[in-house]
Amino acid sequence: ARDQRLPEDEGELAVEGALRPGSLAEFVGQMKVRGQLQLLLDAARIQQRPADHILLSGPPGLGKTTLAMIVAHESERPLRMSSGPAIQHAGDLAALLSSLVPGEVLFIDEIHRMARSAEEMLYLAMEDFRVDIMVGKGAGATSIPLDLAPFTLVGATTRSGMLPNPLRDRFGFTAHLEYYEPIELEQVIARSAVMLDVDLPAASRAEIARRSRGTPRIANRLLRRVRDYVVVHGGSSTQATTADVSAALDLYDVDDLGLDRLDRAVLDALVRRFRGGPVGLNTLAVTVGEEADTIESVVEPYLVRIGFMGRTPRGRVATPEAYAHLGIPRHDGALT
Ligand code: ADP
Repeated sequence: ARDQRLPEDEGELAVEGALRPGSLAEFVGQMKVRGQLQLLLDAARIQQRPADHILLSGPPGLGKTTLAMIVAHESERPLRMSSGPAIQHAGDLAALLSSLVPGEVLFIDEIHRMARSAEEMLYLAMEDFRVDIMVGKGAGATSIPLDLAPFTLVGATTRSGMLPNPLRDRFGFTAHLEYYEPIELEQVIARSAVMLDVDLPAASRAEIARRSRGTPRIANRLLRRVRDYVVVHGGSSTQATTADVSAALDLYDVDDLGLDRLDRAVLDALVRRFRGGPVGLNTLAVTVGEEADTIESVVEPYLVRIGFMGRTPRGRVATPEAYAHLGIPRHDGALT
């Protein structure tokens, strides 16, 4: 599930590309993962072989694609980008794999959405750099083995739980990306502000960071909206005051904690419609008119992380903190 909640045109995507850090050293936060990746890449370089396969999981916007690009860049290998939804047949994957040059880094985003038949083909490809191509149908069908150039697969998923174990086991290194601390987001924002030519005092930077949902992509996006605000209202000044930040973010329905409209719709449904729960994921998704997958991979992880939502065997529940944030008194006898 890409973060589809705010429309993004081509121009915005180009800006996002420009804001991507190009090396592990420039990549903010995720200290542990960075150290682990560095070792993996250094060892591969010394032995002059492609790095082990890498699986990156975590909510959208935390840097999975960026890390894949860095892996290719730091190991001075070409990068091929694809995604699970683009691989709907084993043949799609066979064509992709057989066109890789030796040592190429293959990035498959949303790898959990790849076709089942392709998944099975990928097992063998990852392990032995080989695929078996099926030719013909029925009793006359035969398989022709095809050797592949060695490659490094970087898989990304918002739902590592959806990956079959045999696939997960074939990654030499798996990392889960965590939401960023505000202080880390401030670094991301400071760097982007220079590139976007916004003069951002420390207090404004902190305010954007606090309202970015722990997510660099959102931090950069909010910064662009703040920049827009300053361009329109700032006269000749490029400085974004905290008042400018608040005005811009309020306009885009980003609340004090960085929750957006969908986050609040989910909380609101949980609290008002279902009296705090427990309620099943699918029911919740239908109520707010969103896909269950989006709720589970985008909305829920953050609400759980800030302590507003709990997961129980019987469903999702709202915590007292969620009631307080919405300004709703708790219903007597609520099950939370
Ligand atoms: P994902 O693939 O996990 O959805 P991306 O790698 O596309 O996320 O990152 C989204 C945006 O956030 C990119 O523009 C990137 O510049 C920025 N970003 C992500 N992680 C970091 C980081 N650790 N440091 C600096 N910028 C980051």
